Amino acid sequence: MIPTLSGEPSEMAEPLARLGPTRIPHLIDRLPPTCGRVQADTLLAPFTWFRVGGAAEVLMRPSSVTDLADFLTALPPDVPVQVLGAASNMIVRDGGIHGVVLRLGRGFGEVRIERDGVVAGAACLDAAVAEHAAAAGLAGLEFLSGIPGTIGGAVAMNAGAYGSDVASCLDWAELVTRSGEQVRLPAAELALAYRHASLPPGAIVVRARFRAQPGDRATIAARMAEIRRNREATQPVRARTGGSTFRNPPGMRAWELIDAAGGRGLIRGGAACSDKHCNFLLNTGGATAADLEGLGEELRRRVHAASGVMLEWEIKRVGIPGGAAQLVAGNAA
Ligand SMILES: Cc1cc2nc3c(=O)[nH]c(=O)nc-3n(C[C@H](O)[C@H](O)[C@H](O)COP(=O)(O)OP(=O)(O)OC[C@H]3O[C@@H](n4cnc5c(N)ncnc54)[C@H](O)[C@@H]3O)c2cc1C
Repeated sequence: MIPTLSGEPSEMAEPLARLGPTRIPHLIDRLPPTCGRVQADTLLAPFTWFRVGGAAEVLMRPSSVTDLADFLTALPPDVPVQVLGAASNMIVRDGGIHGVVLRLGRGFGEVRIERDGVVAGAACLDAAVAEHAAAAGLAGLEFLSGIPGTIGGAVAMNAGAYGSDVASCLDWAELVTRSGEQVRLPAAELALAYRHASLPPGAIVVRARFRAQPGDRATIAARMAEIRRNREATQPVRARTGGSTFRNPPGMRAWELIDAAGGRGLIRGGAACSDKHCNFLLNTGGATAADLEGLGEELRRRVHAASGVMLEWEIKRVGIPGGAAQLVAGNAA
């Protein structure tokens, strides 16, 4: 086992929309049996990098692939399912998420080193997989060392950095579909593109195999150290952030467009556009999801007005809006 998603924050939230004289039965009462952990009305903010967001109607942590498959097979098809990885590329909105939110844990944390590759469970942290490959003298996965998400999220987002991405090394991914079927798909069937994979709707990545080549351990370690240094210098890596907010438009860089539009340092409530890397939004303390999303929308408006380019969100925004929007007060506004 290697480090996977950690932390067991379990704050109870106000029940979603069940206040009133008549108690509406809770979703948790009609879920199929599971060996995993199931909690009602659980705040998701502690599980996200931004540390914002409302509650999951039900948070479910399956114990194994089989447990997940059995659960999804028996789950009524009308119940929405949303999977979170490390939520390092996600804004969970303040109104929370209806349905079942899945979070994969220890049962999805195995790493197997092979002669020319690594098989990793979906809950493994990317950096841990890079470390395991490096320790085994396997080269080609160093880029994962700087990406703070999980393997499931890396496949779903075709994560990449420093000239490499999941598409360049993925052999296959094993999925559990929304109807509970377990399938292994070759990378070619996932149509991996810039920060995108075409997973079957509702499918959960549970395991993946990455190609790697035997290499010199010292060279691999030096490459990973260089990636770490570079990130520290250019990104707010210790902040409450969500990574790149917007996709780079073809032939352009989102941060340059934001900078040119005067977005650097802009603030809205507790949210700020990073001074260090202006395609990163920050929760400076006390931000709501509405602050972050509202600031993102303001940046899109400004960039569009200044350059004619409408930026596309890279960060996934999920759940129900809620909470009052706050005034925009920018240092450059
Ligand atoms: C400081 C910082 C630096 C970053 N640098 C980079 C970078 O260099 N390159 C880069 O590509 N990204 C970067 N990111 C963004 C982010 O880390 C990646 O997108 C990462 O792959 C997301 O993984 P996650 O587990 O956090 O996924 P989440 O953010 O939890 O989810 C992202 C999407 O993937 C889906 N998903 C998650 N797990 C699964 C699963 N098991 N099965 C199916 N779908 C799933 C979610 O439903 C969601 O749609 C950075 C983020 C931060 C905070």
